Amino acid sequence: MDMQDRARLIRAGDRRALARAITLVESGRVDHRAEALALLDALRDPPRQALRIGLSGTPGVGKSTFIEAFGLMLTARGLKVAVLAVDPSSTRSGGSILGDKTRMELLSRDPNAFIRPSPSQTHLGGVARRTREAVALCEAAGFDVVLIETVGVGQSETLVAEMADVFLLLLAPAGGDELQGVKRGIMEIADLILINKADGELLSAARRTCADYAGALGLLRKRAQDPPGFPKAMTVSAIEARGIAEVWTEITALTDWRRDNGVLAARRAEQALHWFEDEVRQGLLAQLTANPKVKAQMQELGQEVQSGLSPSHAAAKLLALISDN
Ligand code: GDP
Repeated sequence: MDMQDRARLIRAGDRRALARAITLVESGRVDHRAEALALLDALRDPPRQALRIGLSGTPGVGKSTFIEAFGLMLTARGLKVAVLAVDPSSTRSGGSILGDKTRMELLSRDPNAFIRPSPSQTHLGGVARRTREAVALCEAAGFDVVLIETVGVGQSETLVAEMADVFLLLLAPAGGDELQGVKRGIMEIADLILINKADGELLSAARRTCADYAGALGLLRKRAQDPPGFPKAMTVSAIEARGIAEVWTEITALTDWRRDNGVLAARRAEQALHWFEDEVRQGLLAQLTANPKVKAQMQELGQEVQSGLSPSHAAAKLLALISDN
């Protein structure tokens, strides 16, 4: 099948064609890369955009339960929802991929939803690229909302925030002073902090935690990209599907404001620039280390650094060698 036919199928919302295209962008093979770029190119015009929502939270906080409730609420409103998972630290085996399949059981059977589990991949840069491209494919396939989910570890939430229009942080009710446990950096990128499990015995703890976060958010520096009242903390119960519609109302209010004030477009332009620079950096590094002479020198200097050579000296030496080549 030629590229135009594949692009047409994806645009028509063919799920198998979409799934295959995502597999293609995930591939590390050089010939696949060229094919993936050609396909993405064929899908660029006319452009289609989805609302990109990033979601982060530690394991057990209720991400799957939340996404199921949130996704079903959106499809009930006639919206098409894609869910992509980012798990850079993952060395997942078949077992947990199987686990992924049983997650979001109702949503995964919904014809207006598409769920793509995280591939096993360890390289953060690679994960970023495949996710960005998978988002672009889902947009071309006509999804209205693309949810990008990540486990809240390491750099993955920054990575997801850098490709999302809106970033949600899911937290569990805390006992006492656990507020300190959430890194300031994450609070600074969150647009909505959702305290999940606001039900049953946990309800009052959830309300208390929510008030604590609302207070902490109030102390953060005001961001130019926000209307009054944002970032915001709210309580939800994913399991009882309570507060879920309200989350959508807040997301809509926030993104409408950002769209009307040019923030959304500026943010996407900035993200595109960032990813361009990021790819150039990675590409350069890959090209350099593909050069056996540079690679050998890098290893040699690396050893010298470990036994005392100044890192700056070593780097200058290596860069001089490269520019001589
Ligand atoms: P994930 O690891 O972040 O995807 O979390 P899961 O969605 O798998 O949920 C972890 C556990 O928390 C499960 O036992 C859920 O049933 C439970 N859970 C999720 N959401 C809620 C909620 O709103 N209320 C309560 N009480 N439990 C919840």
